[in-house]
Amino acid sequence: MVIKEAKFISSNTEVAKCPETKLPEYAFIGRSNVGKSSLINMLTERTKLAKTSSLPGKTQLINHFLINDSWYLVDLPGYGWARVSQTSREKWSKMVKAYLGKRENLACVFLLIDSRLEPQKTDLEFIQVLGEMGVPFVLVFTKTDKQSVQKTQMNIATFKRTLLQTWEELPRLFITSSTEKKGRDEILDFIAETNEE
Ligand code: GDP
Repeated sequence: MVIKEAKFISSNTEVAKCPETKLPEYAFIGRSNVGKSSLINMLTERTKLAKTSSLPGKTQLINHFLINDSWYLVDLPGYGWARVSQTSREKWSKMVKAYLGKRENLACVFLLIDSRLEPQKTDLEFIQVLGEMGVPFVLVFTKTDKQSVQKTQMNIATFKRTLLQTWEELPRLFITSSTEKKGRDEILDFIAETNEE
């Protein structure tokens, strides 16, 4: 897929205020600092579409971008800031669960996982939430340029083994590096394929 146009549409704290549309949307989420903004900018080939490294405590927003006038890319607020209050965590959880549960045009969630880390509790908990809510999702392993191919393979194998303790099937996986543009074609092809169905 060629990205001809990527337009910022809106930022919202409530799902009810998100754009009214029948176009499919694809949401990106992960632990803070996982490389979500970099991945969105890499996919859209825009250097500043998504703002990198928003600070903890900043308003957490659901950002909608319209791509090629045919689908929405949604930047969801990240989780896992070490120093945020219980109240902010609960606010995040309420907002994201409302989004996942109510957004009827949501085609797929891209859950970003830092390829350098062993399975993180917060990521596994979020996968559990997606599963319980019946939301279609795929996993995107990020920052693979920062280590050897072998190390990435090892960490992904560990992640898969961990998932298979509770899941019968594994979701689709993407291996990415925003600095090397790795995984871009695969993710865009996947979006184009699911968009045609
Ligand atoms: P976000 O908080 O999830 O939006 O993460 P950012 O996109 O802001 O990335 C966090 C940090 O990781 C920044 O310093 C990025 O430059 C860096 N980063 C993100 N993706 C990659 C990647 O694929 N490779 C490398 N080497 N660094 C990355």
